[in-house]
Amino acid sequence: MTPSEALHKYYGYTKFRHQQEAIIQNILQGKDCLVLMPTGGGKSLCYQLPAVLLPGITIVISPLIALMKDQVDALNLTGIPAAYLNSSQNSGEQQEIISNLKSGRIKLLYLAPERLFSSESRLVTFLKSLPVSLIAIDEAHCISHWGHDFRPEYLMLSHFKTEFPQIPVIALTATADKLTRQDIKDKLALDHPAEFVSSFNRPNISYKVVAKKDSFGQLLNFLNTRKEESGIIYCLSRASTEQLSTDLRAQGYNADAYHAGLDTSTKALNQEKFLRDEVKIMVATIAFGMGINKSNVRYVVHYDLPKNIEGYYQETGRAGRDGLPSEALLFFSAGDAFKLKRFAQVDGNEDQSRIMLKKLDDMVKYCQLQTCRRQYLMQYFNEDFPDRCGSCDVCLTEFKKFDGTVLAQKALSAVARLGQRFGTNYVIDLLRGSRSEKIRPEHKQLKTYGIGSDVSKADWQRYIAQLVSQNLLQVTDDDYPVLKLTPLSDNILKGNRNVEFVFVEELEDTATPQTPVYEAGLLQDLKTVRLNLANKENVPAYIILSDATLLEIATFLPQ
Ligand code: ADP
Ligand code: MG
Ligand code: ZN
Repeated sequence: MTPSEALHKYYGYTKFRHQQEAIIQNILQGKDCLVLMPTGGGKSLCYQLPAVLLPGITIVISPLIALMKDQVDALNLTGIPAAYLNSSQNSGEQQEIISNLKSGRIKLLYLAPERLFSSESRLVTFLKSLPVSLIAIDEAHCISHWGHDFRPEYLMLSHFKTEFPQIPVIALTATADKLTRQDIKDKLALDHPAEFVSSFNRPNISYKVVAKKDSFGQLLNFLNTRKEESGIIYCLSRASTEQLSTDLRAQGYNADAYHAGLDTSTKALNQEKFLRDEVKIMVATIAFGMGINKSNVRYVVHYDLPKNIEGYYQETGRAGRDGLPSEALLFFSAGDAFKLKRFAQVDGNEDQSRIMLKKLDDMVKYCQLQTCRRQYLMQYFNEDFPDRCGSCDVCLTEFKKFDGTVLAQKALSAVARLGQRFGTNYVIDLLRGSRSEKIRPEHKQLKTYGIGSDVSKADWQRYIAQLVSQNLLQVTDDDYPVLKLTPLSDNILKGNRNVEFVFVEELEDTATPQTPVYEAGLLQDLKTVRLNLANKENVPAYIILSDATLLEIATFLPQ
């Protein structure tokens, strides 16, 4: 039987995907290989199909006992004899599998890594007595400290090459940067492995980052238009998954929680309900999702900042396996970055701390991008992606630009007429024609009084912030900061130059320039920080002090 025939016979598929065929050929020739393919790409087939074609047994190492049963059941249904051995079985069941292995009735044997090479285990001796054709190591990044999901028991897999020197090994993962790839090859002692790296781009997923402000309100806003859809919301802590799922239920949402602290039966039940669409929203820690093949997840929300790009990308990859448009939304706050920074410092392991901090830094950079997010992600995984994607929030913002010249002229002339002696709120009240007593009677006579009454206060704040960032207005560094013109303002007022504004929706402000993080080495640096902040009214800001005190200025209002 050829690979194509087997593909058709056992799986009913007509074509190979990505590099499946080349990978399978490589294995049939007895060579080691490392496979990187995105989640949902079709990695399982790369070892299951050779398992059928090769004469002996294929051993599959997979980290999650809970998922083995599903995979083995699915294989048996397609007519591929498979079994698993793990601690959930009684000795009778184990004996039966052992005798089936001996008699050659099983083609694929799934194992969890933990018991394999422990000193009291006779499993290796037994396996060596069998005709083993192939060893497949799924989720191979678990062997590396540099990966995002290190599992110490995976380290034992390094014994495979010494115990089974002649048997080809295929290592598979959906996520590994260059460093992790090398680590996998080293730790597994792969012999000149061929590397198969599929494109990691998931064109049907759109990426978006918003500044975390009133996060629950923002989330409800997002969910409101997606009530019928299925999604995953990732939180950093177990407690927050429970809190958030309770809060969502109180709002009428069909949400459940999932984290490693729940007992096994609750976890299995919640997962099952989610797979069967009985629960729409799974609020989870990163413990949820690996190996779960649910095709219609329409969105993945990161309610807290992920620790690194690898984890983030794999988690977002759980959306849209059916190829339909799906969303990845991340709530970014500098406060989260600060919290994670402390976690990233591993006592007594400087190397690891350094790498974790670097990865966190790359994650924060992603959140603050002003260029295409997909491009950044692809480049992070060393993939060429020369053009902007056109579908991430940054690319879409480009389309939201509009000519704001008239608005800018109104604002600048109000500042000028007020003699450059008033702050933002006063200028906005004047523009909007506020009847408040705070506006001096003589100012109510000005030509600019009320010329901006068709624009909301919040929008004026955004436009003025954009004027400040374009250096067309400046905010003074006084106890009562006031708006002043700049040397560039004149050109606008005279109509010699146009101004572009970006239209930003309420609650959907992108995280990009609005949330500055300042690291102040000493308290006296605060003055400089304050100077920077004065340009960014109504913007949440965080000052990180060297003595590890986090000072959060929720809303910085100069007036
Ligand atoms: P991964 O392990 O890479 O996340 P899976 O091996 O679980 O992905 O495969 C994801 C889905 O894609 C499965 O439903 C699988 O049957 C399907 N699939 C794999 N290869 C093909 C193919 N060549 N044609 C069509 N569907 C495929
Ligand atoms: Mg898989
Ligand atoms: Zn883009």
